[in-house]
Amino acid sequence: MDELPIRDELRGKSPYGAPQLDVPVRLNTNENPYPLPEPLVQRIAERVTEAARHLNRYPDRDAVELRTALAGYLTRTAGHDVTAAQVWAANGSNEIIQQLLQTFGGPGRTALGFEPSYSMHALISRGTGTGWLSGPRNDDFTIDVEAAKTAIAEHRPDVVFVCSPNNPTGTAVEADTVLALYEAAQAAKPSLVVVDEAYGEFSHRPSLLPLIEGRPNLVLSRTMSKAFGAAGLRLGYLAADPAVVDAVQLVRLPYHLSSVTQATALAALEHTDTLLAYVEQLKGERDRLVTELRTIGCQVVASDANFVQFGLFDDAHAVWQSILDHGVLVRDNGVPGWLRVTAGTPAENDAFLDAVRAVCKERSLKENKR
Ligand code: PMP
Repeated sequence: MDELPIRDELRGKSPYGAPQLDVPVRLNTNENPYPLPEPLVQRIAERVTEAARHLNRYPDRDAVELRTALAGYLTRTAGHDVTAAQVWAANGSNEIIQQLLQTFGGPGRTALGFEPSYSMHALISRGTGTGWLSGPRNDDFTIDVEAAKTAIAEHRPDVVFVCSPNNPTGTAVEADTVLALYEAAQAAKPSLVVVDEAYGEFSHRPSLLPLIEGRPNLVLSRTMSKAFGAAGLRLGYLAADPAVVDAVQLVRLPYHLSSVTQATALAALEHTDTLLAYVEQLKGERDRLVTELRTIGCQVVASDANFVQFGLFDDAHAVWQSILDHGVLVRDNGVPGWLRVTAGTPAENDAFLDAVRAVCKERSLKENKR
């Protein structure tokens, strides 16, 4: 590839790539373990059949029906009234983030995130020619607000990412923290603050959505990949001031969201209550993982998401491999000493916990023999 005339900043870099291995229990990409319920599968088939009758035509470029349904969902579940004019949808929240960076970042501009966090914030920044700035976190993985304000004042980034609950740590961000960062970012530039709430539905706390009110440069991004159990659908969305929605029109590809995607997402939104009942089950399983991992003797970061970061290991990658040898795939995000496990079905979580117990026993046996 290095022979190709690719852009200098991409040369020698690795693409995003969580391993997709064929093992009995896969708890590594924060997917929802429950397949869509059969009545919803049937409804998708009906909606897609209807869409298929019109596939000779381009889809609704503005996805008005879908944006109206998403606005209704947020209004009902996230504590704040929003209209379709405040909502924009794309192929996964990764595309939402890309469109935001194409609009508000780009060459000569910078984005700031607080790491460890979702690696695609940095990767999409690079892909859009936006400089990346890595901000600090406290030892408990909360955002160090004073250090963050200083970094914002010093570097005057054009885009600030706040991931809540944060991937991979599961840490929720207080509304007061977002407000402090927003104020600092407005005083410094002003810049766009993107609250990535991909795991919002799993949180113990209310959504940060109400913060968009009266803050034209605050954007909330969400996805149907996690709570809706529809990672294969590729549907992400944002809520913000209508001017932000107007601005991303400048970069979105024409007809970016296929008729099939729009029809499928609309069907899923009709079944919101059933899908949110699964979320409640997963929250219970997430809490069980935290408790059981602590009982086993692991350190666990308090989690508001559908995954749990656990450790602390001298060699986290070796532990990752040992857990995999027991048939369970978790994620090594490269955070020294820590691994991340996604909450699966009760049976998958039992298999994971058994694997961790076995690995801890093997490892302590090895240590005793030394
Ligand atoms: N934000 C965060 C924090 C994520 O963890 C993910 C997926 N792992 C995404 C955004 C992107 O999700 P999608 O493109 O499937 O909506």
